Amino acid sequence: MAKYNLMRTPIFLWQPVLLICLALVWRGTQLQADDEPTIPIPQTEEKLTDDTQTVDANADEKQPEGRKAVELEKVTVVIEGSDILRQEGIHEWAGKAGKLVVDYYPIFDKLLESDGYEPPNEVTIIFRKMDGVAFSTGTSIVISADWIKRMPDDFGMVAHELVHIIQSYPRRTGPGWITEGIADYIRHAHYEPEVPLPRINPDRAKYTDSYKTTAGFFIWIEKNYDAEFVKKLNIAMRERTYSDDIFEKHSGKSLDDLWNEYADTFRRNRER
Ligand SMILES: [Zn+2]
Repeated sequence: MAKYNLMRTPIFLWQPVLLICLALVWRGTQLQADDEPTIPIPQTEEKLTDDTQTVDANADEKQPEGRKAVELEKVTVVIEGSDILRQEGIHEWAGKAGKLVVDYYPIFDKLLESDGYEPPNEVTIIFRKMDGVAFSTGTSIVISADWIKRMPDDFGMVAHELVHIIQSYPRRTGPGWITEGIADYIRHAHYEPEVPLPRINPDRAKYTDSYKTTAGFFIWIEKNYDAEFVKKLNIAMRERTYSDDIFEKHSGKSLDDLWNEYADTFRRNRER
């Protein structure tokens, strides 16, 4: 295994303790030290930089009574296997994924804040040869190297998995569709709001479908009933106090009635 300091670019000056390193893991490879690839530093997008700095710089001032914004101390990127190591564009992709984690960690953490809870202060991103897309386990995000070859623009799934690391809900706290719905809600409402959610089929879809369907439902609830609904939902999940009553408590309508009202908005659009 070899480790490299990946970046100490100006964007990270606001968080000087941050270390990003790239751990290259390969099995049985003949690569010599001189053959090790150089790691490109991802380009900084002005928009993201400004947003991040605002959130980070003001976190303490705006909320003196709350805990400090979490300090993400280490982001490690691991590329497993010589095949993946040589995959075209993998280092650039890995660097962008690392930057995404650095930029959005404090933003997601604030959105999913709850008393006395601090999310883990390090994240590892692992690129692996495997089926599927990605999953998270503990403080790691494991990504299929094959998937990003086919879907090189799919950074939204990194955002989704990052939410799971920050969620870190206790076992048996509430239904999985809430956990997945919140992860996609954060992705679609706060990471890539410009990407439209797919229309649901009002006769078939249900809030328990998870992912984008549930995320769209939560976004609609926040727009029409309670702008901080997901924040409250997150607290209930983290503190193991979740029950379906939380929907009625914050909207005046039962979960099923609320869903039917949401589904009706698609029925009405269809009739036009
Ligand atoms: Zn998920």
